[in-house]
Amino acid sequence: MSRLGFAAILALNLKNSIKRFLHRDFSRLSPLSCQTLDVDDVLIAKKYLKNKLPWYDADTVRKFEREFARWNGSRHAYAFSSGRAALNASVHALGLTRGDEVIVPGYTCVVVRNVFENLGIKVIYGDIELETYGLDINDVRGKVTYKTKAILLHHLYGLVCRDYSELIDFSRENGFFVIEDCAHSTGAEYKGKKVGTYGDVSFYSSEMSKVFNTVMGGVAVTENNKIALRLKEVQESSCELSSERIEKILKSVVIAFYQVKKVRQLTSDLYRFFLNSDLVETTVHDELEGIVSQHGMCKMSAPIAALGLNQLSKIDDYNRKRLETASLWGEWCKSQGVRGPLVVQGSRPVFLRYPVLVPPEKKENHLWAKQDVGIQLGEWFVGSLHPLRGCVAGCPNAEIAIKQCVNFPTILNEKSFVGSVLMRTTVVS
Ligand SMILES: *Cc1c(COP(=O)(O)O)cnc(C)c1O
Repeated sequence: MSRLGFAAILALNLKNSIKRFLHRDFSRLSPLSCQTLDVDDVLIAKKYLKNKLPWYDADTVRKFEREFARWNGSRHAYAFSSGRAALNASVHALGLTRGDEVIVPGYTCVVVRNVFENLGIKVIYGDIELETYGLDINDVRGKVTYKTKAILLHHLYGLVCRDYSELIDFSRENGFFVIEDCAHSTGAEYKGKKVGTYGDVSFYSSEMSKVFNTVMGGVAVTENNKIALRLKEVQESSCELSSERIEKILKSVVIAFYQVKKVRQLTSDLYRFFLNSDLVETTVHDELEGIVSQHGMCKMSAPIAALGLNQLSKIDDYNRKRLETASLWGEWCKSQGVRGPLVVQGSRPVFLRYPVLVPPEKKENHLWAKQDVGIQLGEWFVGSLHPLRGCVAGCPNAEIAIKQCVNFPTILNEKSFVGSVLMRTTVVS
């Protein structure tokens, strides 16, 4: 090959060549992944990166648990390395075993299903309603069998689910446990109490895209002393996060902040080009195939708890902001003739996102959101992060949500909000 030809090919493949050379990923981290990270969080991460001695200090974790329980109005709280680990501990604490059945919304994250199936517990999908995307009580009634031991309900997008009190009452009457998936709804309230304090055991997530952010993290809470004792046992017998993993999580805080929130483009690009491969993958490929990932199943360690304490001190402010933005989205929906979600009477949602139903082609290709509304569209749940299509047979509303539900961000910078949401008049439907 002539030298000129080689140069031409090299030039054509420059990006890929460098990528292969450095084994780096050039894609940009979603801004939805680090909305609540600020300079103070970065300082905490840097402090722990400098000094590894207190990484396994249990006191910091206990302090986070006490503070979380106090803030949440829960009697007991136990911290884990992820929401899925907190769910796993909850399932053990309830004593669910092989052969039991649990009813789970047919519209959820694949890692929820994995926890049950890994333990040989049969997942029966209940359909959702399309007002808050929660379990539909009428569908649940038709799906219980003599093997049903628990119902997992969720408060998706931070909305309090429509059939909340009926699902709890129904479970009490029939002797099922209620597990609350509060991964999206940390801080949401129903009748003056936080969601997650009504069920038998509940779990929260501080994964990067959730209400509060420690990159990865989870908490299980309960009001029941016996269940608490078992949660504690599971926690004590759980593994510690490896120091490599903790380092990666701490670096992810710094990288995510500088990549997404830093005003200067050059800094942001440098972080993106050279440090992307140091970011934690919060859900790994195996999990999409139904395999439980072991390093997601540990107890929480001190640096994560320290980040959690700091995030907890800001969570109410962020949630207030989200509510304000949601009411603007509500107005926007009205002006566009789009149906927004239901706010259940007596509830105060947190609106992690603002979900709406759009025609299927607008979910498949969401360039319109960037171009016409100027926002990054979220799409829980679709494709590989959702149980495969076959699994939701008998859940027609879940099918509709998979094809048509998209969500708008509720933390935006002022410019993009005023400039794009209220000024523009795009018809979504
Ligand atoms: C993210 C999520 C989980 C799991 O939380 P992790 O902290 O990521 O393990 C569970 N349920 C729902 C609905 C989620 O979105």
